[in-house]
Amino acid sequence: VLKRLLVAPGSGPQLASRDARDALGLEGKTEASERLAALQTEVGELQGRLWAEHERALLVVLQGMDASGKDGVANAVLREVNAAGSRSVPFKAPTEPELDHDFLWRVHAATPGRGELVVFNRSHYEDVVAVRVLGLRPEAVWRRRFGHIRDFERLLADEGTQVVKLFLHLSRDEQRKELQERLDDPAKRWKFRRGDLETRARWDDYAAAYEEAIAETSTEAAPWYVIPADRAWVRNLAAVEVVAETLRRLDPRYPPGEPELEGLVVE
Ligand code: ATP
Ligand code: MG
Repeated sequence: VLKRLLVAPGSGPQLASRDARDALGLEGKTEASERLAALQTEVGELQGRLWAEHERALLVVLQGMDASGKDGVANAVLREVNAAGSRSVPFKAPTEPELDHDFLWRVHAATPGRGELVVFNRSHYEDVVAVRVLGLRPEAVWRRRFGHIRDFERLLADEGTQVVKLFLHLSRDEQRKELQERLDDPAKRWKFRRGDLETRARWDDYAAAYEEAIAETSTEAAPWYVIPADRAWVRNLAAVEVVAETLRRLDPRYPPGEPELEGLVVE
């Protein structure tokens, strides 16, 4: 299944031909929630070893349209992870001081330290998607950022930070339902912004911008996965599975410990 979700380097995500309602062969919610719980435990254990090893780090980048469930995925990934070695970092529209620097400045500063598992809720991909659609910078500027992003993520990989990127693929109709629910439910209304409707009206532009950004930046060092996001239980399971598999491949090890400690008895 993971192979199917991966955007092979050199190819594009072909979002239009992917089913956002795909259940990935799962029987239903019960099966999914059992498997999710087991995977979350595994992610917690592997991150514990990553933290103990203190050599490498993992950065999970989440992108997706409004209401695609980025918060839900961040929570699902970090559910069983020790708070000491993990963070979830949201990226909002840049502040004045942030705009006074290059677009990767604030992003680089938030990357994980050795041993950490960090989830980016939005990221530098806003600088080639939102910036492009909203016309905040000229094309010559955002277009050359694809190369900057590939180099930046390569730098992170070379220096010990594995990067894995998840695009939460939501259908336009499911977004309508989710946004309506935000409006109708007093407990969710605070999440709704008027701007969400303007963003929704430009759905096709965002989709085209994502299509190109993902095609330009899915690399061996920092691959993109497309996660079907119309059903929260499929979305969370698939996302946590990608993270678990990435950690398995890293195979973090407990450090050997000082030889002098061998056989020492605490009185
Ligand atoms: P939710 O999905 O729950 O609504 P959110 O991530 O949309 O959460 P908001 O505060 O609603 O949080 O929106 C953040 C906004 O900041 C988005 O519209 C996003 O496009 C914008 N943004 C983030 N980074 C940048 C950037 N570098 N340049 C321009 N806009 C950005
Ligand atoms: Mg929002």
